[in-house]
Amino acid sequence: MDIPNLSFEFFPPKTPEGAVKLRTARQQLYAYRPKFCSVTFGAGGSTQEGTLMTVREIAAEGMAAAPHLSCIGASYDSVRALLQGYRAEGIRRIVALRGDLPSGYGIGGEFHHARDLVEFIRAETGDWFHIEVAAYHETHPQARSPQEDLRHFIEKMRAGADSAITQYFFNSDAYFRFIDEVGAAGMSVPIVPGIMPITNASQLLRFSDVCGAEVPRWIRLRLQSFGDDRASILAFGREVVADLCDQLLAGGAPGLHIYTLNHAAPALDLLQDLGGR
Ligand code: FAD
Repeated sequence: MDIPNLSFEFFPPKTPEGAVKLRTARQQLYAYRPKFCSVTFGAGGSTQEGTLMTVREIAAEGMAAAPHLSCIGASYDSVRALLQGYRAEGIRRIVALRGDLPSGYGIGGEFHHARDLVEFIRAETGDWFHIEVAAYHETHPQARSPQEDLRHFIEKMRAGADSAITQYFFNSDAYFRFIDEVGAAGMSVPIVPGIMPITNASQLLRFSDVCGAEVPRWIRLRLQSFGDDRASILAFGREVVADLCDQLLAGGAPGLHIYTLNHAAPALDLLQDLGGR
């Protein structure tokens, strides 16, 4: 199966060994001809150099690279400089985010929400960048209500975003409902599902609790029941995520954005499963 709008997400490696491993992983994943590969940006700009270096490598490998850019705590000048740098490197796509500052940082900065960043990028660089934003179709954890969150998402799109990538999830109902609601508000933008392969159960369950991603009860219970049996976790997770992607693509999802966590194997397994169906 040829998946339109396939993309992979990486984080900037912290060590030279990590960088070597990531290069190998990327080469394996490129076989699936992704539309772009994105690179995360640590809260408060903590990975700024690493993001830039990884983006440069991807571009040098002949692949479209999309740096993430989170604006919370940043100044107009610092974001302007980053945008100019990316533009000079020939980068044409940016994932524009608010980001989350670690507690104790205070809010500060000149941007408050991702919408401010989208507006700033458009004002500074016109149509140079294709702007991706984040979508929380199961509702962002800090949102006052689902309705307000949806309204803010639509405002963010109207500010000039071209497309969106969702937080990861395991239940397609909320995704399709969100697509309908955004459509009913008169927006027809691609909202690509973010897909998290299941490899480490305890980490996934812990992380999901804080980042606005629901793990359905039946999946949680099954994962917990496997204990340390990694082979069973991997086999079950592979089946669940492949079924989810099948449902999404069959229901008209415009593509898949895979959170690789810098590992090729889980994404390759998934794509192989989808190809074989
Ligand atoms: P926003 O769109 O600003 O929304 C954040 C909250 O503010 C929501 O509750 C929203 O309802 C509310 N809000 C929005 N506008 C207004 C308004 N005008 N008035 C009042 N409330 C408002 N984080 C990183 O630090 N680095 C990364 O590289 C990174 N990559 C990500 C990639 C993807 C695909 C996704 C889905 C998330 C990523 N994140 C990353 C996490 C993201 O930065 C956080 O989840 C953050 O809390 C929200 O970001 P946002 O861009 O959705 O924010």
